[in-house]
Amino acid sequence: MSWPRSSSPPPIDAPNPNAPTMPSPRECPACALEFEDTGDVEECPYCGYELPQRSASVRWVAWILALLLLWPALEGLMYLLGA
Ligand SMILES: [Zn+2]
Repeated sequence: MSWPRSSSPPPIDAPNPNAPTMPSPRECPACALEFEDTGDVEECPYCGYELPQRSASVRWVAWILALLLLWPALEGLMYLLGA
């Protein structure tokens, strides 16, 4: 008994949200309409809702949060090292 060889499905390419040149459909949180997000869209083209910017400040906030989380661990490590 031989099984028919099924063709494997094509690999699914996960969309990279950080790709700057790839426009991706984005949904407006105010009017729920989708539009092409080319990376520099500041407001919804339909209702004019100001979109939250995914800028470098987001990265800074992430860094600061990571530092705040790591700070007690670092202090504990210094304490353990015999400070
Ligand atoms: Zn909108």
